[in-house]
Amino acid sequence: MTAMIIDGKEFAARVRAKVAGHVTRLKDQHGVTPGLAVVLVGEDPASQVYVRSKGKMTVEVGMKSVEHKLEADTSEAELLDLIARLNNDPEIHGILVQLPLPKHLDEDLVINSISPAKDVDGFHISNVGLLGTGQKSMVPCTPLGCLMMLRDHHGSLSGMDAVVIGRSNIVGKPMAQLLLGDSCTVTIAHSRTKDLADVVRRADIVVAAVGRPEMVPGDWIKEGATVIDVGINRLDAPEKGEGKTRLVGDVDYDSCAARAGAITPVPGGVGPMTIACLLANTVTACCRANGLDEPEGLTA
Ligand code: NAD
Repeated sequence: MTAMIIDGKEFAARVRAKVAGHVTRLKDQHGVTPGLAVVLVGEDPASQVYVRSKGKMTVEVGMKSVEHKLEADTSEAELLDLIARLNNDPEIHGILVQLPLPKHLDEDLVINSISPAKDVDGFHISNVGLLGTGQKSMVPCTPLGCLMMLRDHHGSLSGMDAVVIGRSNIVGKPMAQLLLGDSCTVTIAHSRTKDLADVVRRADIVVAAVGRPEMVPGDWIKEGATVIDVGINRLDAPEKGEGKTRLVGDVDYDSCAARAGAITPVPGGVGPMTIACLLANTVTACCRANGLDEPEGLTA
């Protein structure tokens, strides 16, 4: 079997177009412009790139984008003060604090100081609890993007066996909750799982979120399974020239694509969906803040 490629780039463009349509409706019919504030502390180069592209795409879908760039030695009190102001700003519907934060800042404290209604990353403990109990919440962007692609590909996920490899708070655990919410039988595998190969072989859906380049070989994949590769790993690529690199996922793409029914590539799979879902969450948050119907298909 040769897998169908799930094109995250194209799917993300569709999600952004849908978001843009809702932004136009909110502006024209309700006089409201959704606003997203991104807070960056320090000068981590990768974070700077993410923040730049988040800002650009926010503006492209017609929303208001606000960036707060703080010095690396910003105190916790200063950061909490900024978040409190954003929590109270009626023009801001989503707040994202770019992680990781410099070591002297308590990440949990900072995240939990964001108003849960504006927590478009879905990391606030209230949103984690709401998701875990199947209630309306803000859903973390990367797992939400994976869920959207799975629903689009399969329609109903009910009764499917799903294995999530990785138990992080930002990907693995919320991904498992979402799959459970869609009535999958879910197994969460992690670094201490015994016989991972055997666990993965049972899965109709495999979500790999580990951060280990190409660790899942094709012979772990059940014939026809759907493989969602969340991993983003940068490897040296001397064949492309000196100092060049290439991105690979957590699954060995060629061997997995030879057995899977469908697979997301890296790059161009889950990656583009993350920002698209951030924008989707901001529109959802804006609708909720204004007592308006939420757009369909943009949240879990
Ligand atoms: P993490 O380091 O927080 O968690 C990794 C998880 O993998 C852990 O729960 C650990 O138990 C598990 N693990 C480690 N070694 C294992 C092994 N040998 N077998 C089975 N499980 C093992 O990572 P994360 O933040 O969840 O990210 C995972 C990957 O996803 C990374 O490559 C990251 O870059 C990528 N990521 C991509 C996006 C995106 O937008 N596409 C977003 C977030 C993370």
